[in-house]
Amino acid sequence: MSDVSPVKGMHDLVHPESSFFRVAEDCLIEILSSFGYQEIRLPILERTELFRRSVGESTDIVEKEMYSFADQGGDELSLRPEGTAGCVRAALQKGLIRAGRTVRLWYSGPFFRRERPQKGRYRQFHQLAGEVYGLPGANAEAELILSNFLSWQRLHCASKLSLKINTLGNAEERACYRTQLVDYLGARRSALDENARRRLNSNPLRILDSKNEQVRSVLKEAPKPIDFLGSESRTHFDHLQTLLGNAGVPYELDPFMVRGLDYYTQTVFEWVRSGEHGPLTVCAGGRYDNLITQLGGALPVPAVGFALGIERLLALVKPEKIAEMNEQSPAVYLVSASVRAEEFVWRFIAELRRSLPGHKLLVHCGGGSLSSQLKHAHKSNALLALIVGDHEVQADAVSLKFLRSDRVQEKVAVKDLSKRLQSLLA
Ligand code: ATP
Ligand code: MG
Repeated sequence: MSDVSPVKGMHDLVHPESSFFRVAEDCLIEILSSFGYQEIRLPILERTELFRRSVGESTDIVEKEMYSFADQGGDELSLRPEGTAGCVRAALQKGLIRAGRTVRLWYSGPFFRRERPQKGRYRQFHQLAGEVYGLPGANAEAELILSNFLSWQRLHCASKLSLKINTLGNAEERACYRTQLVDYLGARRSALDENARRRLNSNPLRILDSKNEQVRSVLKEAPKPIDFLGSESRTHFDHLQTLLGNAGVPYELDPFMVRGLDYYTQTVFEWVRSGEHGPLTVCAGGRYDNLITQLGGALPVPAVGFALGIERLLALVKPEKIAEMNEQSPAVYLVSASVRAEEFVWRFIAELRRSLPGHKLLVHCGGGSLSSQLKHAHKSNALLALIVGDHEVQADAVSLKFLRSDRVQEKVAVKDLSKRLQSLLA
């Protein structure tokens, strides 16, 4: 079988995990919809150039994590490693991004990065993300964060996630900070590792994420983005903190958090798994007011967004809790005693299904005696069994057995069956 094994770091999902995915996504989408988000569906392949221009040439993602190739026509393409760039591209092309107009979009699906696979880190993983265009105020970030917080609460995992926020200032403030950081680190070059030295020119902000202990000790005294804020950026960040505080969303400031992508300005945030297994970012986002013009938008339009990793989120949710949310026992389990009975059932089954939208109706298709079929009905945890034997065929009726109570069995004429079931299941 080795020749048909899956690609390293890419996984098949079967029940119950596949059902957990669906439940989590449905719950997240419901919350986003209540905030006014609409779905956008995006291609999985994009031009490699899109990610070079947005995520940034010298980020880990573009430098070494993308699955890129030239197709038969010689176009340089990449499997999408993240969604923000493609979403901006699509929203621009579809005319959704216009000055003075607000649009809230969500999307979900697979993303691809060639990283070293380990727990919580895969080569194909799944994100659910939201992007909001047209809102310059900190209330936009606050709403994103609140929608995340409500999602964690709904999925019973809020206590396992802590929110870290920081600000990078606007483009000029960020650039000024970058220069100061390069000066500071340049003067301590000998204490940096090779990676940090290389990044000193290409992507100095990334050095703040270094895991190397020696580099970390140099960073302790390094300048922080927050020290370079002008009054507008400071007010923006203060306002965000007031809104979060008022809504009861706990957060901490992390003055060195910068995020790996080039497009962020002002607010950045991360929801980090807390606890004994060590920190891991489950959801991250921020403001990226300059990306829209960078990708060809005629006018600058403010933008904020977040992306959450579904695998990492599900790892925090207790299986019992999510199984409870997924509880969908069949309403009805139908058994028939003979081929004749089955043929009779097929005269009304389509109409019955049409009349019970949203209810799970299992029809026993495996044959066997009535009593063995009824065992299956009990095992399925269905509420009702519909039994069709020769008597029922003759009477143009169906017997209705209550599987979870000792109510007496009823015989219902086929013409009344839909109504009777509708009222029992209401
Ligand atoms: P990390 O620092 O863990 O590498 P990141 O900063 O690269 O994360 P983002 O680009 O912000 O991650 O992506 C948003 C979210 O997508 C992450 O918080 C995480 O939940 C998820 N994610 C990113 N890369 C992976 C991966 N390789 N496997 C699983 N989930 C991932
Ligand atoms: Mg990463």
